[in-house]
Amino acid sequence: MEHCGHRPISVSLLGLYKVAMEQVVDGNTLVAMCLSRGGVDRMFGVVGIPVTSLANRAVALGIRFIAFHNEQSAGYAASAYGYLTRRPGVLLTVSGPGCVHGLAGLSNAAANGWPMVMISGSSDQSFTGRGDFQELDQIAAVKPFSKFSAKATDITEIPTSVFSVIDWAVAGRPGGTYLDIPSDVLHQTVDESQAQKLITEALDSRNKDLIENPKINYSEIQKAVELLRTAQRPLIVFGKGAAYARAENELTKLVESTGIPFLPTPMGKGLLPDTHELAATAARSLAIGKCDVALVVGARLNWLLHFGEAPKWSNDVKFILVDISKEEIELREPFLGIVGDAKDVIGLIHKEIKDDPFCLGKTHPWVEAIRNKTKDNVAKMEVQLAKDVVPFNFMTPMRIIRDAFLLVGGPAPILVSEGANTMDVGRAVLVQTEPRTRLDAGTWGTMGIGLGYCIAAAVASPDRLVVAVEGDSGFGFSAMEVETLVRYQLPVVVIVFNNGGVYGGDRRNPEEITGPYKDDPAPTSFVPGAAYHLLLEAFGGKGYLAATPDELKSALAESFSAKKPSVINVTIDPYAGAESGRMQHKN
Ligand code: ADP
Ligand code: MG
Repeated sequence: MEHCGHRPISVSLLGLYKVAMEQVVDGNTLVAMCLSRGGVDRMFGVVGIPVTSLANRAVALGIRFIAFHNEQSAGYAASAYGYLTRRPGVLLTVSGPGCVHGLAGLSNAAANGWPMVMISGSSDQSFTGRGDFQELDQIAAVKPFSKFSAKATDITEIPTSVFSVIDWAVAGRPGGTYLDIPSDVLHQTVDESQAQKLITEALDSRNKDLIENPKINYSEIQKAVELLRTAQRPLIVFGKGAAYARAENELTKLVESTGIPFLPTPMGKGLLPDTHELAATAARSLAIGKCDVALVVGARLNWLLHFGEAPKWSNDVKFILVDISKEEIELREPFLGIVGDAKDVIGLIHKEIKDDPFCLGKTHPWVEAIRNKTKDNVAKMEVQLAKDVVPFNFMTPMRIIRDAFLLVGGPAPILVSEGANTMDVGRAVLVQTEPRTRLDAGTWGTMGIGLGYCIAAAVASPDRLVVAVEGDSGFGFSAMEVETLVRYQLPVVVIVFNNGGVYGGDRRNPEEITGPYKDDPAPTSFVPGAAYHLLLEAFGGKGYLAATPDELKSALAESFSAKKPSVINVTIDPYAGAESGRMQHKN
């Protein structure tokens, strides 16, 4: 072979070259090394200038990088991954617009109290203020949504910055943190030995107090037990903070030993099975309206729980709030507040009760009232559910989906739910039997979480099927990520309730249909009969169109057993359901 004067590099020379390379570590590699040392095993993001190498180096160090189309979805994925795994979900973005798109995920983590780290590359520091490529003061941009942020202005600051954003994300009430790494820092180098030294020093100086749970005041445990013991109509409410704390075993023991009815918030569903005889979900109004003592565990008394106020709650209800956040307890001013980890606190309450047990029993008037109300409401709903209404309303397909879910057995599928009517009806009808198997629009009512959450769930729990049940408008926010599903061959079935728009058909009053653009489609309308199932087929996934019970049943049976990326496009009557779903009063 001709080499035009160049000789092939000899094997021994290559070895030397490699040794020389190993002695230098650039910023990209150092970030990846620190993430790996910090326990990060998955990352979500969109690569590009200046972070492509960072992603590649992370992969080379054993971190799985899930590459998205849009930082918004990747950010939602990172936030849900944090919730599901109790370790920060990491989002990687490019500078400027990438960071701005990522704010969606960061803000969602903040609102839900989920641990997440957003890492963005940023423009070259030597050009600051002069209009560099994608230049933005990213530290200022993330401020409202991050509980802690750091900018590594020099490669030597990388290790401390990485470990701090990880530790702050999980500390106290979890949330989003931010790490900014300018492109010049990503390209700086240090010797391998110096890199190792920096990492060791940063690990040694990690703030241990940040990670430890607060000490629990035992006299408050005793007070809580006394309140529960003497209550006439006690109720235990738990939310996604309790789910995050993995308090399911402690809560189950407490509920079953005391016979106190319980009410989960939407994402608390599944900590105890929805089918439990003490579940007050179907008697929610009675339970919260009449209870005299409510032990609220890892759930904020915000809009989802009617601020803990009358008329939904009784005026003299005594709240016992259990929360990791002291500020949360100070804000709500409950009768009794216990700062601590939900699993620890409920464990202690149960232990304290065990010394002098009490149990309401099946014939206790409060337990009986809740059971009767539950039976009535369930029976009424079952009548509606039993009908096969075609064209589909929301109830008929939801029943068919519920039954298909139950056939899957264990481990239960993870449900991702968004939309107005689709999410409301789904919450009432779909049955959660295992903890952390429901992900929905959450505290912030975020529409667009669908595909990001599906991908996070599939990556976090590879043994589970993931099923999204979402409206067509919700699906549209992140629909391009169906390609991501196919690319990574994730076991995700996306069921789209297609009623042709936001809330479905045109519901405007005649007097609203006027002016020069009156013939445009209504702001709530999409193309009717959109073939969403074909979107996935464009990438090699499987799509189904289902307009009848038989079509839906067969699509579910096939896709649930295939455990491959699929979209089921369910045709829904555009005039079924209500504008804004259950929250018409807010629109
Ligand atoms: P939901 O939407 O289910 O009502 P929220 O997100 O409103 O739940 O509330 C969750 C609460 O749980 C937050 O106030 C948060 O501070 C708290 N929390 C988070 N982690 C823990 C934990 N480990 N132990 C107790 N409370 C926790
Ligand atoms: Mg719709």
